[in-house]
This record gives sequence, C-alpha cells and structure tokens, in this order.
Amino acid sequence: MKTTSRYRSAARMIAAIGVVSLVAACSGNGGATGGATGGDASGGYPDQNITFVVPFSAGGPTDTVTRMIAEPMAAKLGAKVVVQNVEGAGGTVGAGEVARAEPDGYTVLMHHIGMSTAPALYQNLGYKPLENFEMVGLVTEVPMTVVARKDFAPATLQDLVTYVKANADKVTLANAGIGAASHLCGLLFQTATGVKLQEVPYEGTGPALTDLVGGQVDFMCDQTTNTSGQISANEVKAYAVTTPERVKSLPNLPTTTEAGLPQLQVSVWHGLYVPKGTPQPVVQKLSEALKVALADQKVIDQMAKLGTAPVPAEDATPQVHRAKLEEQLGTWAKVIADAGLKAS
Ligand code: ASP
Repeated sequence: MKTTSRYRSAARMIAAIGVVSLVAACSGNGGATGGATGGDASGGYPDQNITFVVPFSAGGPTDTVTRMIAEPMAAKLGAKVVVQNVEGAGGTVGAGEVARAEPDGYTVLMHHIGMSTAPALYQNLGYKPLENFEMVGLVTEVPMTVVARKDFAPATLQDLVTYVKANADKVTLANAGIGAASHLCGLLFQTATGVKLQEVPYEGTGPALTDLVGGQVDFMCDQTTNTSGQISANEVKAYAVTTPERVKSLPNLPTTTEAGLPQLQVSVWHGLYVPKGTPQPVVQKLSEALKVALADQKVIDQMAKLGTAPVPAEDATPQVHRAKLEEQLGTWAKVIADAGLKAS
C-alpha cells in the first residue's frame, strides 16, 4: 500500500478486488493527493480518501459494523471513506496489510477479538498487535448466537449437544477461519461438549451464513450483527445467545446458561487501528471522529436492531483500547495454550 499516489493505487485495488464501495462523500477534496496543508497539529489531515480495511468478507458482521460508522466518521473528518475487504486466514491477511501500510492515517483497520487471538494461534503471523499498530478506540462488543440450518434436526441447545455427540463424524461446523470469532466460539462449544467436529472455514461469516441458509453446512456461531435478520425471518434455527443476558432485539432467544451450556460465553469486541508511527494528532482526530459516530442516533438505532450498542465515549480512546488489547492477548494466550491449538 505504500505509494505516492494513493488514489491511483486505490483505483487499481478497486479494479482488482471488486468489493470496494464508496460509503460517503463529504466536503473534503476527495481523491486529490498532496501533502499536509492545514494549520492544525494534524498537518491538515485528512486531505485525501481514507481506506477502512475490513479483514473479512463483505456482508459479514465486521463489514456491517464498519459501514455503520464509516459514514458519520467521514462526515466528521470531512473526507471520503472507502471500505475495502481484505479477507483470509481468520482476519490476519488484512491486519498484516495494514501493519505494513504507510503510517499516515489513510489506512485504518477495523478488527475484532481476533487481534488478540492470532499471535497465540499463528506461528508466522508477520505482525505484533501491540508493536505494529496504534490503537484508535474500541467500537462495540457484539453477542454471538448459535444457529443452524433451518431443517437441522435438533430443536434446542440441549438437543444439539446430544445430537453432535452421537453424530460427530457427520456434523459440519462453519467458521470464518482460524482465529475468527466464529472459530473461537466453535472451539468453546467443542471443548464444552467434548466432541471434535468437522469444521468448514470461510473467508468471513457473510458467505458462511449464506451457505447455512442454503443448507450446505449444519451450524455455526456468529455475531448478532450478522444473524439477527435471518433469525427474525426464521431463515435459520437459533439455539441461544452467548452472553449472560438475553439480547433485547431477540427476546425469545435463551442465553447459553439458560439453555444448559454456561461454559459457552463469548462476546466480540471491535476496535479501530492504524499502523504504528501514525502521528498522534492524526490518531486523536480519528478517535474524536469515532466518538462522534458512536453517539450518532442512526448508528445507535442500527446497532440496537442488530443486538448490540456502541461502547461508551470513554472507551473510544487509544488508552482504553490498548489496555483492553493487552488484557485480551494474555487471556487468549492462556486459553489457546491450554487447549493446545495451532493454526498450522
Ligand atoms: N467477524 C467475521 C466476519 O466479519 C467473522 C468471524 O470473526 O467469525 O465475517
């Protein structure tokens, strides 16, 4: 991504990848390139398009949350924001690309809990979360749901446990690659039930859910930001939500504790990152724009509909985000080591 003409480079990527969409057009000077011209501490940032990299497929939960906040952030920053999906290897391909990008605030990564699990899972990750990124702020924490194809036999979570124990060699469990939230939740399910299932990796849970609805795969864990619509429309069978409390937008769905599997507890925190070395005034500007987006009523309403909420303003800061990442890296290193997991 290092280039003196970011616009030309972005245009090439649009042509090559074909999944980029322009989410907001604002008063900035759009695709123009050029140096810092303004008088504030951020050196006139931004004066060109900003790329938000999503390390999973378009249409999935990470993509959905990113597109929700991209527009109000673009409006606050006065620049265009382009969302680019760089999927693969449980989010590590996109994260690695941002780690190596120019530290100028024009390449921003949206990542989730996978940022804290990858170092323990991947031997040759190629980046270090705390050393190669600046944290911008936390975004949201999303509950997960256990969902199956509509005609899958088990009716309740308890039935599912009994069924997978009896049919472990036949049941297929979808995920978005090693280290993805769906993979972690699936591992917790397998550990809690003592079964080893056949896992089917996708490049994001967007395409995995499409296959679940189509009946090509049996079940999976995924975030409410991806599954709420299909659960409400009865396009999938939903067993439980993986948080201590029920989700307001899915009031009939029991928690895993209510449904008899209290060990299956996980929610998926998201944060924004820029490459290490990005000037602090630029990081601050992005963090301020993030706070504005998270206070936007449209964003609050959209998130509520999908079973989640923005973090409080004080968590949308580099300091709180760094502390969370440090704590989570330690937590998951232990869980992953105890379970003897490896990505390759
Ligand atoms: N968040 C991923 C996605 O957007 C899925 C996952 O982590 O399981 O597809």
